[in-house]
Amino acid sequence: MEYISAKTIVTRTKAPAQWFGIDYNMNIYKGCCHGCIYCDSRSECYGVDDFDKVRAKENALQIIRDDLRRKTRRGVVGTGAMSDPYNPFERELMLSRHALELCDAFGFGTAIATKSALLARDIDILQSIAEHSPVLLKITVTTADDELAAKIEPNVSRPTERFEMIGKLAETGLYTGILLMPVLPFIEDNIENIGEIVRRAGDAGARFIYPAFGMTLRGNQRAWYYHKLEELFPGEGLAAAYQKRYREYYECVSPKAKKLWEYFTQECESRKIVYRMEDIISQYKRPYKVTQMTLPF
Ligand code: SF4
Repeated sequence: MEYISAKTIVTRTKAPAQWFGIDYNMNIYKGCCHGCIYCDSRSECYGVDDFDKVRAKENALQIIRDDLRRKTRRGVVGTGAMSDPYNPFERELMLSRHALELCDAFGFGTAIATKSALLARDIDILQSIAEHSPVLLKITVTTADDELAAKIEPNVSRPTERFEMIGKLAETGLYTGILLMPVLPFIEDNIENIGEIVRRAGDAGARFIYPAFGMTLRGNQRAWYYHKLEELFPGEGLAAAYQKRYREYYECVSPKAKKLWEYFTQECESRKIVYRMEDIISQYKRPYKVTQMTLPF
């Protein structure tokens, strides 16, 4: 593991109400080795060189401890935006686990996004946090098909393992659901895939699914994605189909988005799974509303 220096790790978000009610961002690792072919974090605008190589922040736990101690407002610390906090190195390093212990000790909540079944290792700490603060567990699933996932998300837990983990987390009462994004146009944007994800999410006890029927593409990430499409789906003309439809667009909405949204919302409603941002935030924060407070220092 290579270590890089950092002055601060837990930083205030600009618009907490808009993205899952997250008040602070925390990235302990830089880069990600999960290899998702569509990953937005490899875009050049983020300036992460050699993106597939994971580096950890030096003295991360000491910095996080200082960051949390200095905050005058408690809140939800989000992790998993730029790099999966449960990469294979985390199994031994346990930086994400110890960071959660610090959140617990200092009275902060947490919102975690991951594709890794390793998250279940930390159920004990998550339960401890949930005794005093909101906990939101977002498991990303873009396809229900293990074989397809092995191609497009090669180095991380297969969807079957992710659904099993959702079941395990939900059983403990932790507020758990699915980030259904991206939904890759011409590859994952079909009724069968969306229906299967909602069905298995419901069976596992997921409380929410937050979807985006499409993806974003820009700069070097677009070039990388097209290169991987050619490599993984030879002769299918997928890169050409993207070029024809999306040219240099940043937001690449599925041509079937409207139909998928209608189907998706009906399926979710029949299973009492919420899918709107305001409902998700309200559900996972509601039990703590009365106890939220500003500390006098
Ligand atoms: S797990 Fe997330 S950060 Fe890592 S490669 Fe996949 S999309 Fe990118």
